[in-house]
Amino acid sequence: MPSYTPPTKDMQFVLHEVLKVSQADTPGYAELDPEFTGAVLEEAGKIASEVLTPLNPVGDTEGCVLENGVVRTPSGFKEAFEQMKEGGWTALDLPEEFGGQNMPYILGTAVGEMFSAANQAFTMYQGLTHGAASAILTHGSDAQKATYLPNMASCQWTGTMNLTEPHCGTDLGLMRTKAVPQDNGTYKVSGQKIFISAGEHDMAENIIHLVLAKIPGGPEGIKGVSLFIVPKFLVNEDGSLGARNGVSCGKIEEKMGIHGNSTCVMNYDEATGYLLGEEHKGMRAMFTMMNEARIGVGMQGLAQAEIAYQNALAYARDRLQGRDVTGTKNPDGPADPLIVHPDIRRSLLDQKSFAEGARAFLLWGANMIDQSHRGGDEAAEGMVSLLTPIIKGFLTDEGFDMTILAQQVYGGHGYIEEWGMSQYARDARIAMIYEGANGVQALDLVGRKLPQDGGKHVMAFFDMVKTFLKENEGNEALGKDFLNPLKEASKHLQAAGMFFMQNGMKNPNAALAGSYDFMHLFGHVCLGLMWAQMAKAAHEALEEGASDTAFYQAKIKTGRYYMTRRLPATAMHLKRIESGAEPVMELEADLF
Ligand SMILES: Cc1cc2nc3c(=O)[nH]c(=O)nc-3n(C[C@H](O)[C@H](O)[C@H](O)COP(=O)(O)OP(=O)(O)OC[C@H]3O[C@@H](n4cnc5c(N)ncnc54)[C@H](O)[C@@H]3O)c2cc1C
Repeated sequence: MPSYTPPTKDMQFVLHEVLKVSQADTPGYAELDPEFTGAVLEEAGKIASEVLTPLNPVGDTEGCVLENGVVRTPSGFKEAFEQMKEGGWTALDLPEEFGGQNMPYILGTAVGEMFSAANQAFTMYQGLTHGAASAILTHGSDAQKATYLPNMASCQWTGTMNLTEPHCGTDLGLMRTKAVPQDNGTYKVSGQKIFISAGEHDMAENIIHLVLAKIPGGPEGIKGVSLFIVPKFLVNEDGSLGARNGVSCGKIEEKMGIHGNSTCVMNYDEATGYLLGEEHKGMRAMFTMMNEARIGVGMQGLAQAEIAYQNALAYARDRLQGRDVTGTKNPDGPADPLIVHPDIRRSLLDQKSFAEGARAFLLWGANMIDQSHRGGDEAAEGMVSLLTPIIKGFLTDEGFDMTILAQQVYGGHGYIEEWGMSQYARDARIAMIYEGANGVQALDLVGRKLPQDGGKHVMAFFDMVKTFLKENEGNEALGKDFLNPLKEASKHLQAAGMFFMQNGMKNPNAALAGSYDFMHLFGHVCLGLMWAQMAKAAHEALEEGASDTAFYQAKIKTGRYYMTRRLPATAMHLKRIESGAEPVMELEADLF
């Protein structure tokens, strides 16, 4: 049975020694001292490892069941959900006036990683609720906020996001669901949405669906889309639940993973809907939810990689196969443990260096969200907007790859369900698809985010790397191992950006053909930067006489591995990008 050890120490290292959060002037950060964050993370870690981890295989094997229009969640989910609510874990970073705890987003992100690693399918019920609540908080009227937010903060009511229809996923301009205005200011929403996560279940009194639909007579395509609040049960003036609305679950999907989360076909039949935000500005409002969800999905990639790695590591220490070619390490046993073999170590170090680098990257992203939301910092907002498709696309691609590597450490046993390793790969796989498939994230990065505001944000990224390199120029401990590889990788990134600028206008396919490589090139540079910063913090701790030398030395050695073995991928990505459109477009469609 797989287990999970919350990476509390690692999170504390990033929060306090790399990002130095309690010294930052971001509103709300002063209270984030090591004692406070340590206490929160420790409590969250207990729930993750003791409550959610054992339920993960239960959710996988039992799945959700639709009976008479009601979805039954797997055994134990309801009780665990109650525990999350009672512990106040459902709204750490929502405002206090609506029942949240007003903690910074960065702390919610660290806690979210633990819950997600322990049980991705379960954690999605509250993750989607949080996203829907954020959209109402940002775009809702005072009355809408008062009606929905307190019950959503406590997860008495959960939330969903309804974009996808059978004939449209990426291209939402093709949407057919319609919302007809009524004399009383409400709308009648009709249509079918598919693949709706947590669309129906038995863990909440009410479900608040956020539904994209078109108002007849509005602009064509995506510009005619508006966002509506469509509750499962209508809410009376006094806040009590009223009549059942015209929304029902027609089917739940059989799928590859996240079996504990119900993926529903939702039918809207003249359901009463309330406009959220402005007419025809639905995508803007939905983007509040989608941007948050994209960071949350990037986190899922990291989270599954982390728990898969932890179990692969334990197995590699335990399983005896073959002998160390340089000399026996376990003379009393019939063979040495797997961890002595260089190829197993390669795999484990790929996983470890990814997970720790990705965690720093994610928490840095969350830090910028706080700087932007709480501190009104526009530069941070621009930077996190640039990096969001990378957090989503790169972390989920790599996260999935890492679960496969972890499974491989188990050999044949990794393929056998009893060991639990296949669930991590199956659960991680969806993160590459939903919230905008990763190919579309790459297009967003190259087509929208790179040129945004005249390229201001990507230039700010390059300046930041340059400043870091300059500030640490004379640092011998970092120079050869960290600064030089980072400098080279960053040059590759700049060269790729330059290639798009010079070729993208005259041949858009040249940019589109290289977009996926660019997303990965950029992702590696971000993780390279994170590792250089972590190595710096680790060296400083050692110089200051930190007692836990093994922890810091492990950081430096793992970082060195990333810089030496993973970061050189940037050269390959640049070469592919510079090959332009031709290798991809040359073969005629009918010759495939
Ligand atoms: C388990 C699960 C849960 C989900 N949960 C939700 C949910 O809660 N709410 C919701 O609304 N949706 C949800 N979805 C839907 C999901 O977001 C969509 O499946 C996804 O956005 C892709 O849309 P699609 O499946 O229609 O693929 P398509 O849009 O048909 O795309 C197919 C492929 O083509 C690529 N592609 C499309 N357009 C382009 C282009 N212009 N250039 C290059 N490549 C392109 C895509 O990257 C993709 O790989 C869920 C899906 C699943 C499977």
